[in-house]
Amino acid sequence: MTAHHYDVVVIGAGVAGASLCLQLARQGVRVALVEKGTVGAGGATALSGGIVRVHDPDPFLSSLSAAGRNLLLNWSKLGVEGPSPYTKSGVYWLKSDQPGRSIATDTRVGRVADFPRLNFLRERSDPLHVLYEPDSGYVDARRLCASLVQSAINLGVDVYENTHVVGYEVSTSGEVTVRTHSGSFTAHKVALCAGAGFVQMTRMEGAYVRSIPLVTVRANSVRLETPIIDETASTYMRPLRSGVFFCGSQKWSVPGEEFDRKAVANDALKRLRLVLGRNVDIEVINVDQKYDAYSHDLRPVIRFIDGKSVLFLGCLSGRGVKYSLAVGVLAARKLIQSMSGHYQESVWDDCIGEELPMLVTQANSDEMVDA
Ligand SMILES: Cc1cc2nc3c(=O)[nH]c(=O)nc-3n(C[C@H](O)[C@H](O)[C@H](O)COP(=O)(O)OP(=O)(O)OC[C@H]3O[C@@H](n4cnc5c(N)ncnc54)[C@H](O)[C@@H]3O)c2cc1C
Repeated sequence: MTAHHYDVVVIGAGVAGASLCLQLARQGVRVALVEKGTVGAGGATALSGGIVRVHDPDPFLSSLSAAGRNLLLNWSKLGVEGPSPYTKSGVYWLKSDQPGRSIATDTRVGRVADFPRLNFLRERSDPLHVLYEPDSGYVDARRLCASLVQSAINLGVDVYENTHVVGYEVSTSGEVTVRTHSGSFTAHKVALCAGAGFVQMTRMEGAYVRSIPLVTVRANSVRLETPIIDETASTYMRPLRSGVFFCGSQKWSVPGEEFDRKAVANDALKRLRLVLGRNVDIEVINVDQKYDAYSHDLRPVIRFIDGKSVLFLGCLSGRGVKYSLAVGVLAARKLIQSMSGHYQESVWDDCIGEELPMLVTQANSDEMVDA
């Protein structure tokens, strides 16, 4: 391969890289998307439970999730390839204490008895508070990713699959050379969207990598079409098909550590029994895991790590599918500002006041296609 030249080389075709590529392509930026495996299949995106909810103890993450969800809700206006990957099923969040501030205006708050579909929880003795978000739901993350990339290809983005990036260099003039196992690319900017891959490679300060287990269970007696996040049991249930659910476990590992399937399955079962009661028949039918990159405050990172040419977009901290469309818009904006010389580093808290409410408004208006 000879060195192809682009405005931006995006490394990693998970939801973050895919969303960024599309936003850049919409603005006429010449982009290469380079992926060591295949689109949406290499990292956390491949296995994501895809729950989309807005409530979050951190008001910033709540705003970001609202922005991401609104973009998903307006799929037909986004002009993205294929049918919507989003199922607006509603989401329940169970809490043991009185809910605090929630920015989601559509959230209904009550007790189990106020929600007839939660009848199967009525035997629980703990005093549960329920938050119900009717506009939330779940998304097929791989299909989302594939649709974003296909739309980017239609706008001229070149996609290089099975192309492993082994390093990059920035020249004194700020131009970047990205080296892969089969040749190199040159670009004005590079965007590192390699999920756990990059953090592991560079040991980036303030970031860490851990696995996220995904346990598939069968519980034939449970009729559930709506994801439940149970804060008390630290788990979730996400309907997959009749009587079959994804659920979580708190047994994770770091790279290099053994993946103990049995411990993960047992922990998942223990937590589910807290949700459903001891007598419900539950069978584990699969246990899997993928790595994701985390930041210490669980907020995603979008930052030029060298001040000008290398944008890091990552640390989606196990929650990234719900706000991937929003972070793609914000990261594209940073790159485009930087290429036109109008870039000013802002802190996330500035976004709560300015950029995120704007994204929510844009998603609700007819002008979204060009945003
Ligand atoms: C089991 C599980 C359940 C989850 N559940 C939810 C949920 O319910 N709701 C939610 O919102 N989020 C959830 N998440 C989190 C969400 O899926 C992730 O935060 C998000 O998918 C991360 O996307 P990404 O694009 O940053 O990274 P990834 O999807 O990991 O993509 C990174 C890509 O970079 C590629 N790459 C890495 N290194 C290189 C290299 N050197 N050269 C070229 N390419 C490279 C990888 O192959 C990969 O395709 C879950 C994640 C997991 C694993």
